[in-house]
Amino acid sequence: MLNEKIYIERVQRWIELVGKVVYSQPHKLKAQYIYDAKTPIPWAEIGKHQWKPIEVGEKWADVWGCGWFKLTGKVPSIMTNAFVGVWVDVQGEACLFKNGVPYQGLTNKIDWNLQAGKYFVPLFPNSKGNEEIELLLETGANGLFGEDKKTYNLERADIVVFDQQAYDLWLDLRALFSLWEGLPANKPRKKRILHGLNQACNLWQDGRDKEACLAITKKLLSLPAEASALTAWSIGHAHIDVAWLWPLRETRRKCSRTFSTALRYIEEYPDYIFGASQAQLYQFVKEDYPELYEEIKEKVKAGKWECQGATWVESDTNIPSGESLIRQCIYGKRFFKDEFGQEINYLWLPDCFGYTGSLPQILKRSKVDTFISQKLSWNDTNTFPHHTYRWQGIDGSEVLCHFLPTNDYNFSNLPKSFIETENRYAQADISDDFLNLYGIGDGGGGPSKEHIELGLRQQNLEGVPKFKFSPAKEFIAKLRTLDFAEIPLWQGELYFELHRGTYTTQSLMKKHNRMLEQKMQLIEFLSVLTNSNTNKYLRPIWQDILMNQFHDIIPGSSIGWVYEDAKASSEKNLQKLELLEQSLISNLLTETNAHNNLVIFNSLSHERTEVIEYKVEQPVKVFIKQEELEVEYQNDSIFFTITIPAMGYQQIRLEPASKAIATPLLNSEVKLENDLLEVKFGNHGEITSILDKETNRELLADSANVLKLWEDVPNNWGAWDINHFYRETTPELPELIERRFTVKNKFKQSITQRLSIGNSEIIQTISLNHDSAVIEIENNVDWNEKHKMLRVGASPAIKTMNATSEIQFGLLERPTHKNTSWDWAKFEVLAHTFIDVSDNYHGFAVLNNCKYGHSVQDNSIEINLLRSPADVHKEADLGKHNFTYCYYPHKENLQNSDVIQKAHALNQKLVLLESDLVPMQTADSLFELSNDRVILQTVKYAETGDDIILRLYESIGSPQTLELSCKTSYKAAFECNMLEEKEQELKLANNMLQLEFKPFEIKTVRLSRG
Ligand SMILES: [Zn+2]
Repeated sequence: MLNEKIYIERVQRWIELVGKVVYSQPHKLKAQYIYDAKTPIPWAEIGKHQWKPIEVGEKWADVWGCGWFKLTGKVPSIMTNAFVGVWVDVQGEACLFKNGVPYQGLTNKIDWNLQAGKYFVPLFPNSKGNEEIELLLETGANGLFGEDKKTYNLERADIVVFDQQAYDLWLDLRALFSLWEGLPANKPRKKRILHGLNQACNLWQDGRDKEACLAITKKLLSLPAEASALTAWSIGHAHIDVAWLWPLRETRRKCSRTFSTALRYIEEYPDYIFGASQAQLYQFVKEDYPELYEEIKEKVKAGKWECQGATWVESDTNIPSGESLIRQCIYGKRFFKDEFGQEINYLWLPDCFGYTGSLPQILKRSKVDTFISQKLSWNDTNTFPHHTYRWQGIDGSEVLCHFLPTNDYNFSNLPKSFIETENRYAQADISDDFLNLYGIGDGGGGPSKEHIELGLRQQNLEGVPKFKFSPAKEFIAKLRTLDFAEIPLWQGELYFELHRGTYTTQSLMKKHNRMLEQKMQLIEFLSVLTNSNTNKYLRPIWQDILMNQFHDIIPGSSIGWVYEDAKASSEKNLQKLELLEQSLISNLLTETNAHNNLVIFNSLSHERTEVIEYKVEQPVKVFIKQEELEVEYQNDSIFFTITIPAMGYQQIRLEPASKAIATPLLNSEVKLENDLLEVKFGNHGEITSILDKETNRELLADSANVLKLWEDVPNNWGAWDINHFYRETTPELPELIERRFTVKNKFKQSITQRLSIGNSEIIQTISLNHDSAVIEIENNVDWNEKHKMLRVGASPAIKTMNATSEIQFGLLERPTHKNTSWDWAKFEVLAHTFIDVSDNYHGFAVLNNCKYGHSVQDNSIEINLLRSPADVHKEADLGKHNFTYCYYPHKENLQNSDVIQKAHALNQKLVLLESDLVPMQTADSLFELSNDRVILQTVKYAETGDDIILRLYESIGSPQTLELSCKTSYKAAFECNMLEEKEQELKLANNMLQLEFKPFEIKTVRLSRG
């Protein structure tokens, strides 16, 4: 074709023109509204409000305002025999209700590639003229992506005529033009499409002969797909972030809009199938819109609606504990089973920021064998090499993974993008199939008609993959027929080379999550210890915890409102658990002994010997039975050392001491010292020396506790990202304001120092107990920075190629060097309660009680303590923070040390309760473990029934044998999957179980009382 460029422009202009004639003859509706500035008005309360008239162009709301619109009118008689509907645009989101039930969502957000906003409500396919119209719409003054403007006007409310022929032609033209764009140059098919489009344009004649145009487009669309075309198994999808740029309350309404729209398209298009993940969203709909929920149930039963994913929400997998990830599966799978009769055996996380190496085992043992995602397509450094692959976790468990080769979970269904996908699909050599999630998402919405219409045109079309309407589970069943030996294997974590700041942003959220996880572990243990099944109190709390682990809440990437909600819910739940803890313990304390008593509880599975610091009104003596313990008295507190049995408690007696004298706080050189270590300090608050007194060896190559305030201005996505170049800037060091001893006695020494850095202040209390090499540093920070990051580093005298981080139920090694681009990209990594560098003889661990972001380069270990991204939430992280980290120079390598026990003890403090009542026994222990490499992480009541569930794991990556003694007698023991379903009976002899563990194996044991 000569002058092809000119024809292309002509065709593009014409397609736009055709689009404009689809909806015509606008006729104004009368509009009235009611309004609340903050809170949605329920359907039942509409009557309490006075309708106010509003004209098109007038403001109806400030951002986040909530309203209802009543639109009334009469179909003009000139529209007789036409397809008549209404066109509504309130600039925000809206949902048409019928008889109090959400009927269809309307929203102005359009697909990036596809102009596919939702404004049109079809009413009379063949109007008789003069029909009365009265519509009620619930409205929200926010865009699909939250606050997109400050005020919202009624933009349009018209009765319009819909031209089906023009619409069909418009969709044909768009499909063909996109196909033309995607096809390689010089293909005959490409040339013929442009020629045909131009021919059709010649026949248009102001729209008088649409049929002639359609004859050409239909012919071009009738050519069948090539024999080797891939199949795009396609399911309508609406990614609904449980909270992100909008609060939870808006998510509930997003569900009503999105899900009602999906139901209408299911009715309109017989082949259409829609899917939605996240039990939590279904739970919202069940609570708020029971009729809509019933409609969804019917469509699930009819196979038109797919419940997706096995989890409660699409959870982050970096930060939640292993037990939390298991509960995500238990709660998610159980909900879909109970409510919909659906057994879901695949995980659905298209949008999470990296995937922990513990996940394959957790999935496998929760009866989930396949994993759907795509997020690693966003990597900033390396291209992830596979789309269909086997993923092997740290223990060797494998799941089958499919990363959408569309690189998108909001796919447009445009032919050009399908052609790119087909070319990109790394496993096209062995697989004919890929999964396609299409529709508008992140803020919900789902497919528009255009998405479905484009799909219909590509079911068997030359040049593109074959579009197949299908639920994900049918695709997965097909995928699982591949020869597994041919499928590539990826081992270890799926590290996401982006969004590394989400390990740290919104640190209070992360701290609350850690506290709640620890508290739940304690309460579940106390429930079993005291024979009180508290599951019914704990379930709603677990649901809140699981919800807040959603992949935009816990990572810190949401607006401030979301964190206000999360803080309120976390604090309320912590309070409830506190009360529950006291009431459980009081169940146990039934005997009187006419003394003051302290009962000290240890919910961890190893015996703990620790220094206790306990506030008293007057000096006291401390006794275990008749044995008096050595006690120091200082700062109105007593200090003593005590040993508490594993998973048990120890009772002690307090008796007034007549002549105790407080140990004086003497002024001396400000350094910490015990039999093991001598710790010295420098001018910026740093630790300049840790001397091992046994070997007289300096343990630091350079300083520790080195606080640095870095510039933190990533190119994009401030709350999400840390760019590596922060390291090229010059950090600020703290200024030491004062430093002095605050505790100094036989059992404990503490130094408190006040530091100023940037606009912030840090008060540190650095403590060393006797008989311990753990240097504990408690921090109280008043944080007043923007676009800054506070990191603390230590440089031990150890040279290693790898550092070891604790992850869920195990350990993960990552490089301390930058040899390859894959190593380089891991400049910020995630660890749970500790990170460690060890050689064969000794090591250095950094423990924490609520932090996740770390980096290890050469021999320098850093924790990312605080960020202040000031973008999605302007005040993110400002204010007061309290956190603790510890340095633990240890003998032996990590695996032969007690680092794990020390780190867990830092996070799960001993519980002290003073009472004049005591338990029947002075000390008790629920379970005793012969091997401390195996950790009994969780002791709980079974989800159903009164059996006891134990969750144990091998913690260092070596095979282990364990003898587990139960102090209570049980009738039978069973090995279970993580859903607590019995798999095989275990031999229980004399209340003793013998268990064999593979490296990093997690075992679930069910103990039955008969
Ligand atoms: Zn998301």
